[in-house]
Amino acid sequence: MSMNQEQIMALDNSLVWHPYSSIGSGLPIFPVESAQGVRIRLVDGRELLDGMSSWWCAIHGYNHPQMNRAIEEQLGRMSHIMFGGLTHQPAVELAAKLVELTPVPLQTVFFADSGSVSVEVAMKMALQYWHAKKHPEKQKFLTIRNGYHGDTFGAMSVCDPINGMHSIFSGVLPQQLFVDAPACGFNTACSDGDIAPFAQRLAENHKQVAAVILEPIVQGAGGMRFYSAEYLKRVRELCDKHDVLLILDEIATGFGRTGKMFACEHADISPDIMCVGKALTGGYMTLAATLTTREISETISSGDPGLFMHGPTFMANPLACSAGLASLHLLTDSPWHTRVSKIEINLHQGLVPCRELKTVADVRVLGAIGVVEMAEPVDMKTVQPAFIEAGVWVRPFGRLIYLMPPYIMNDKDLHTLTAAVRDVISNIR
Ligand SMILES: *Cc1c(COP(=O)(O)O)cnc(C)c1O
Repeated sequence: MSMNQEQIMALDNSLVWHPYSSIGSGLPIFPVESAQGVRIRLVDGRELLDGMSSWWCAIHGYNHPQMNRAIEEQLGRMSHIMFGGLTHQPAVELAAKLVELTPVPLQTVFFADSGSVSVEVAMKMALQYWHAKKHPEKQKFLTIRNGYHGDTFGAMSVCDPINGMHSIFSGVLPQQLFVDAPACGFNTACSDGDIAPFAQRLAENHKQVAAVILEPIVQGAGGMRFYSAEYLKRVRELCDKHDVLLILDEIATGFGRTGKMFACEHADISPDIMCVGKALTGGYMTLAATLTTREISETISSGDPGLFMHGPTFMANPLACSAGLASLHLLTDSPWHTRVSKIEINLHQGLVPCRELKTVADVRVLGAIGVVEMAEPVDMKTVQPAFIEAGVWVRPFGRLIYLMPPYIMNDKDLHTLTAAVRDVISNIR
């Protein structure tokens, strides 16, 4: 059975939820036929240059022969096997590769099935660590506003309270501690005044705080804000001083996106617990991981109850681990650093002219991330089709029009992509 565009759209509109959507909204939606390299092909035959990497994930582009081969080979062996009492090469090989790539202190790996779950796991690790250390009073998490850590309840509790719609769920969400997001931007110094609110909150509450949780350097879905590496460095120092763990959520920033393999490298620090996801499988399969130190793993393992209390059904799915392994090999065998630098230059040249427009509040670029912040929220009803008309796939949210192209995008395509963004933005009144 083959459906035409109208049939797909009608069924979609009446029975399928999309991310942060309503049923029957009638908002424009576009059926995809296939994707290849940096191009997405719609069912109606139009081709779009991909500016989103499917939300940070598809760093090598789509339908990559090496990625396909890795999954096909694994498919011939087994697509899934339970991880309780059994193990397999794709999982242990990927764990070893992750330990090799991430900062030195991170030495053990918990595989989760999505970014949100890896954040839940990170938060549980922190709580179980303090429980094992006979500090069960350490139950709270401290974070900065404008963060985004996922959509499950634990993760949601440390998302920005306003963006994260905490009011709807206030009866069930654990109450966490928040301070304002740093005002010191990337490549700027962090003054005593900038860190003071965080320092004070931690000093006052450290006895109750299990961990600080942050997105390092780039706050993603909570506002696409970039902040000072020095701020992050000082957060690390304060966590050490007050005996509080530091969880870094590298789900969006990991694997080269900011110009470093991991964003924490900008500050030359390492966390006690790190979450990775998104680009981990090059956008092929859902997979995430939570890494931690040997000290934390051993403390949890030897303390009461002697087990880490989490175990997803699809933990370390072999197809996903094979995709992860293939993706990380592709990445480390590629000149990713040069590619990301070239994207940074192109995004800068292509987007900075938008600053001239009255409708634009700010333009910022870091690594392979380009953000145009508008003064007003964009009207998705008109803007989304305008991007399609211009031949690009860009998915704004709120006041933010942002690009994070696959690392393989060449100069010519980057030029086309940013020109289309400038065009569409200049027509917004
Ligand atoms: C996307 C994201 C998550 C959640 O990951 P899912 O796979 O969508 O559950 C968590 N933290 C950050 C920083 C993210 O960008």
